[in-house]
Amino acid sequence: MLAARFYGIGQVRVEDVPKPVCGPGQALVKVAYAGICGSDLHIFRKGMFVTSIPETMGHEFAGVVEQIGEGVTELNPGDHVVGDPRVSCGVCRWCGEGSYNLCPTLGFIGEVMPGCFAEYLVLDEKKLLKIPAPVDLRRAALVEPLAVALHIAGQGRFSEVEHLGVVGAGPIGLLTVIAAKAMSVTRVTMIDISLDRLELAGGLGAAALQAFPAEQVDQPDVVVEAVGLETTLAGALGWLRPQGRLVMAGLYEEKVIIDPNDIVVKELDIAGVNAYETGDLRRAIELIAGGALDVDHVVTHVLPLASAAAAFDLLTSENKKACKILLAP
Ligand SMILES: [Zn+2]
Ligand SMILES: [Zn+2]
Repeated sequence: MLAARFYGIGQVRVEDVPKPVCGPGQALVKVAYAGICGSDLHIFRKGMFVTSIPETMGHEFAGVVEQIGEGVTELNPGDHVVGDPRVSCGVCRWCGEGSYNLCPTLGFIGEVMPGCFAEYLVLDEKKLLKIPAPVDLRRAALVEPLAVALHIAGQGRFSEVEHLGVVGAGPIGLLTVIAAKAMSVTRVTMIDISLDRLELAGGLGAAALQAFPAEQVDQPDVVVEAVGLETTLAGALGWLRPQGRLVMAGLYEEKVIIDPNDIVVKELDIAGVNAYETGDLRRAIELIAGGALDVDHVVTHVLPLASAAAAFDLLTSENKKACKILLAP
């Protein structure tokens, strides 16, 4: 079968690899659509997270169960599924409480074990969540990033927010806007340098800015930083109103320098976001199955798996015309 594998910084090769074999308690899934995530770009640009090379990349997917292993009780061939791609130790206090995203050794499929940029993958039954059959698999492939946005909404206490600021109109930033609208946040202002991406934000009803406002007026109650750069973090801290809340959703490739006095003098609150909890995944399935959210809005390209390397070039190019790219094995 074909798989897109990481061979080192800037190197993704699509090649023929053996089809995985489904063991006891596992299911073999035929991948329908798999999304390229910001964390895949961290791998591509910096070699972050991956523990062995080569590795089949990818952690966001929707597909169809083709075969089940011995002892599998909840799944049957033909079931439509999405994955819970978190790989945690299973024995620490956080895993014991079900907060797998806080496990100190948290990794993901596509980083610490083979991922979904392949025609097939094998996962434990408990790592697969069924989706109702009428739900388009292309939309279902967005369950995982939507779960991140829902976790952001929880950490940002969106239910109490009037004016939300979002820095970075990538897939997570845009899905955060979609989640915010669903939670009746009245006003969203989005900042990005890319006009193409700001156009996507405008289509979701967000006010779009290409730079942080120079004046301290109309400041957001909560700002979600979904980029992970020094300038965007510093900008977000400066943009917030006094006693506002910063939600940090971007991952950083470099150490950054900020002025902590922004936090002190404005008495800011800061919340981190690491992936999502199982409840966020379930809620994302419900919302996508319900059909009320316009998650398709973030998908700019659907490409064959064979074009995986070109897709990475597109996403890391200067012009930022692409947003969410789905690979279709
Ligand atoms: Zn992801
Ligand atoms: Zn653990």
